[in-house]
Amino acid sequence: MRRIGVLTSGGDAPGMNAAIRAVVRTAYARGMEVFGVERGFQGLVDGVFRPMGPRSVSSVINRGGTILRTARCKAFLAPEGRAEAAALLRQYEIEGLVVIGGDGSYRGAHALGVEHSMPCVGVPGTIDNDINGTDSTIGYDTALNTALEAIDRIRDTADSHDRLFFVEVMGRESGYLALMCGIAGGAEAVITPEDAPPIPELVKQLRAGRDAGKRSGIVVVAEGSPLGGAQAVADAVAAQSEFQDSRVVVAGHLQRGGVPTASDRILAARLGASAVDALLAGEADVMVGVSHNESVLSPLTTAWETERRYGKTWMDLSHLLAT
Ligand code: ADP
Repeated sequence: MRRIGVLTSGGDAPGMNAAIRAVVRTAYARGMEVFGVERGFQGLVDGVFRPMGPRSVSSVINRGGTILRTARCKAFLAPEGRAEAAALLRQYEIEGLVVIGGDGSYRGAHALGVEHSMPCVGVPGTIDNDINGTDSTIGYDTALNTALEAIDRIRDTADSHDRLFFVEVMGRESGYLALMCGIAGGAEAVITPEDAPPIPELVKQLRAGRDAGKRSGIVVVAEGSPLGGAQAVADAVAAQSEFQDSRVVVAGHLQRGGVPTASDRILAARLGASAVDALLAGEADVMVGVSHNESVLSPLTTAWETERRYGKTWMDLSHLLAT
């Protein structure tokens, strides 16, 4: 393999730049050329390719976001869009593709691979940590620490005013980020898409905390909770209890950007290099991951055919320590 492409797709995540850097420099070290594709699959369809060398990725290891930018590309959902992309890849003599993104991006990569025999390797980049095949995704640790910092600040004011706060954190269908924020931030309760107690049950938990001497409280709500976001949960609690004077904070997009943590940079370095070596070894239609501190490969299909769930013991631990 002489020339490969690299792109970032779907939601951006801190550490994607460190992954691009690892891909570019590993490929260069192995004697291959790299083309960066701008704005994810949109750049593939539009043919926005730029040659990258080791110096194109200088001083990006510490930057959040993605220098290649990212997009959600409608055209790529249709076979015609993917055919245009494949024709352009052939024209540029690109023989393999590294796709940094989440499960949606893997679906696109899989379709391109199956329909046009383009070897694709996925690198898990998403703050949600919702992909099987790796213990952690690039960006998750940074987002967790960012949300945790917000929770810590809120705790100060909650304690000072004897107040209850509902804090909404990201994670569409996955409560992983919310639950770990709750455990690390000492939340009184955590509401996730997977585990949402009925409101009377939540009220009971809050009352038990108050009766045990807690004067303030933090409830972490995952944005995809079936009870709605933090505001909806606060309203429902207020309608059914004496907890009237709560406050709501939506961490929102503040969790997405920022300087990647050391863990995310190290993970990105490792996974970016593994992805290039996987392509060189003739692998295709796989994602790279780290499991029990070993580099592992899994079929791209794993990302959407299996659902990543936190183990029940984590929610039990959250309850146990909130007493
Ligand atoms: P993420 O990779 O973060 O999960 P998305 O779900 O938004 O992000 O997916 C990113 C892009 O991947 C989409 O904009 C689309 O171009 C492509 N994609 C997603 N699902 C499919 C699919 N089923 N077939 C082809 N391409 C897809």
